[in-house]
Amino acid sequence: MTQRIPHLINGEWCPGVGTDLITVTDPTTNQPLWQVACSTAEEVDAAVASAKRAFMTWREVPTPERARVMLRYQHLLKEHHDALGDLVALETGKTIADAKGDVWRGIEVAEQAANVASLMMGETVENVARGVDTHSWVQPLGVCVGITPFNFPAMIPLWMFPMALACGNAFILKPSEQDPMTAVRLVELLLEAGAPKDIVQLVHGRKAQVDQLISHPDVRAVSFVGSVPVGQHIYRTATDHMKRAQCFAGAKNHIVIMPDANPQQVVSQLVGASVGAAGQRCMAISVAVFVAGARDMIPALRDELAKVTPGHHSDPEAAYGPLISPQAKERVLGLIAKGKQEAECLLDGSDCTVAGYPDGNWIGPTLFRGVTADMTIYREEIFGPVLCCVEVDSLDEALALVNANPYGNGTSIFTQSGAAARKYQHEVEVGQVGINIPIPVPLPFFSFTGWKGSFYGDLHAYGKQGVRFYTETKTVTSRWPETDIPGLNSSGSGTVEANMTITLK
Ligand code: NAD
Repeated sequence: MTQRIPHLINGEWCPGVGTDLITVTDPTTNQPLWQVACSTAEEVDAAVASAKRAFMTWREVPTPERARVMLRYQHLLKEHHDALGDLVALETGKTIADAKGDVWRGIEVAEQAANVASLMMGETVENVARGVDTHSWVQPLGVCVGITPFNFPAMIPLWMFPMALACGNAFILKPSEQDPMTAVRLVELLLEAGAPKDIVQLVHGRKAQVDQLISHPDVRAVSFVGSVPVGQHIYRTATDHMKRAQCFAGAKNHIVIMPDANPQQVVSQLVGASVGAAGQRCMAISVAVFVAGARDMIPALRDELAKVTPGHHSDPEAAYGPLISPQAKERVLGLIAKGKQEAECLLDGSDCTVAGYPDGNWIGPTLFRGVTADMTIYREEIFGPVLCCVEVDSLDEALALVNANPYGNGTSIFTQSGAAARKYQHEVEVGQVGINIPIPVPLPFFSFTGWKGSFYGDLHAYGKQGVRFYTETKTVTSRWPETDIPGLNSSGSGTVEANMTITLK
């Protein structure tokens, strides 16, 4: 019988009583891995009620102690790095190197959460008026919710709950129904690190469970990562119910290649950045903009992409894995077919097989040339191993194209010119910019700063902005007249006044 994925509700691991069952499959074979029951409305309510109770105790735990739980958690995650990587590879089909990278990026956030006390420091001003001082404290919100996508099942939950918990909140995680076992393991390790067993709750499901959570009166904040339509729905619904919300959504990331860029560097970096992880990264490069003579690099790019093949994660030669599901594969194949009508297809990965895995969701590297901004393959997020080449005559034209795009997650420029690089980083309307770096993901002491249609909200994930998202500031102003202090002469301050002359100019 297929193993049941557990829920964690009210501090108890349980299989769930729901009858809506989802089968989680191995994307390299489409064979069942395990089953998960969608949480019932009663289970979701119980999770929120339990989290609310747990918060009242957890918020009083000294901040350094909460930080120490995160320190132990970071240590345990490192100890289990290989096993977690294997689990991510099994559920997503990613290569082992990629899967371990997914876990590592999350470990770095737990590391940052262990430093929470210094990130939660308030401010003080003495003597805002005579005998009056003001200070501010940074306090947790209460029950926070996280809804995560399939493509980084370790990193993205770890963007959320370590920081939220370190700040003193309770957390409810609803991971992707396509690969929820990684989340189970992450939460098990959190409890092993010493977190109270009811401070994080794990529920499963899809739209119904999400909608209940984001409209629940006892939920204060919602973090979401996923596609644009769902992100917009969650942002609208959560804010309509007066929640704080941060929603990280889809992307269409451009790389601009200037004629003076190093061709070998461009070609080798672009291959990994476009088809790595089967293009299922929100920071994948999906559009290459060749400026003037840089277009001469396109044939070499085609030849390098043609050498790359997907494969099973047990094969060290595999460049990347399968698409997450047959539905995702069908969608991408449909977009490739559309692209063949719209543009010139230099490399077509539609008909791709991997020896020993005939039923996997494989798609080979695919390259289009002559793409323009009105085409479907340019406008839609493909989320597959597909790269679109656009040719323009100047950096200004490239900037205009990128800035007119509704998304703004990441971009990069390859050039040897400091002036071109400076102009690009200054004028481009995208949140994360790489210069001679194709995927500029910031480390957790910065924030993950998507713009425009790639992000709805104001405070971003992790870093200082992450802490600000999961807390609110309380300002306290106090008056302590010296006459109240036994033994102090009330004329003391008067003496100071008598000797002081202040001239205002
Ligand atoms: P998705 O939007 O389909 O699902 C994300 C989460 O929302 C899942 O937990 C899912 O169960 C839930 N969900 C799905 N439909 C829902 C609905 N109608 N109402 C409420 N909840 C719903 O995304 P996905 O396919 O899992 O992930 C891929 C997408 O995520 C891509 O668009 C990618 O660009 C994006 N992404 C963005 C970032 C970023 O930082 N901007 C990072 C990773 C992935």
